[in-house]
Amino acid sequence: MAFFIVLLGPPGAGKGTQAKLISQEMKLPHVSTGDLFRENLKQGTELGKLAKGYIDRGELVPDEVTLGMVYQRLSQPDCANGALMDGFPRTLAQADAFDSLLAKMGSQVNAVPYIHVSEQELVERLSGRLTCQAGGHVFHKKYNPPEDPERCDFDGSLLYQRDDDLPETVKNRISVFFQQTSPLIEYYRKQGKLIEINGMQTVDQVSVEVLKLLKEMKTE
Ligand code: ADP
Ligand code: AMP
Repeated sequence: MAFFIVLLGPPGAGKGTQAKLISQEMKLPHVSTGDLFRENLKQGTELGKLAKGYIDRGELVPDEVTLGMVYQRLSQPDCANGALMDGFPRTLAQADAFDSLLAKMGSQVNAVPYIHVSEQELVERLSGRLTCQAGGHVFHKKYNPPEDPERCDFDGSLLYQRDDDLPETVKNRISVFFQQTSPLIEYYRKQGKLIEINGMQTVDQVSVEVLKLLKEMKTE
């Protein structure tokens, strides 16, 4: 039986950081729509060109564009047993479309860890975030510094500060979360799938908590 996890939380909550660990432990591919968009931007694809303005402004890319990209990714063989979704769905329309797609595949969303963190902490985390060019690994200048300040510990590629992590865009991204994505908290709570996680703990504490709950849900 396939197992689909949706990691929910505002930008900067720690979804990408946790996803790397959960994906290894649960043996599920990490599907980050933000990473997929950034890969398209880097390759200069039509999709990347279409998404660029929205990403630069900290707005959501239109649902039909995002959904097309996600459907294509999920049709790849490594997603046959499920996936760990990071940054998707982000609107009620995306969540509905995702439910319909999974139903057609005879699957469903199984668990939705919602990582919550105070707004002030989000701003601090995003303004100090360092992202690796090759594999999307993330570090933080103060909270999770790489051994070499310029290079990724995992693959040695150069670290950079995302343009959308600059202060003005960060504010907009956080408000977009509260306006457009936060209704998903109730959506999944009503379905009995929401797992609330206190994100104001160390990276290790958060992963211990998330993994324990996910493993319990998988064996139920
Ligand atoms: P998201 O994917 O939700 O946007 P990230 O995983 O990229 O968030 O984390 C945002 C920033 O916060 C990164 O710089 C990361 O190193 C840092 N971070 C993640 N989790 C924690 C934590 N529990 N405590 C402190 N910093 C964290
Ligand atoms: P992230 O890496 O998750 O912070 O996403 C970076 C940016 O990509 C967002 O600010 C959006 O512009 C875009 N994006 C990522 N995922 C989605 C999604 N599910 N729906 C719409 N836009 C998205």
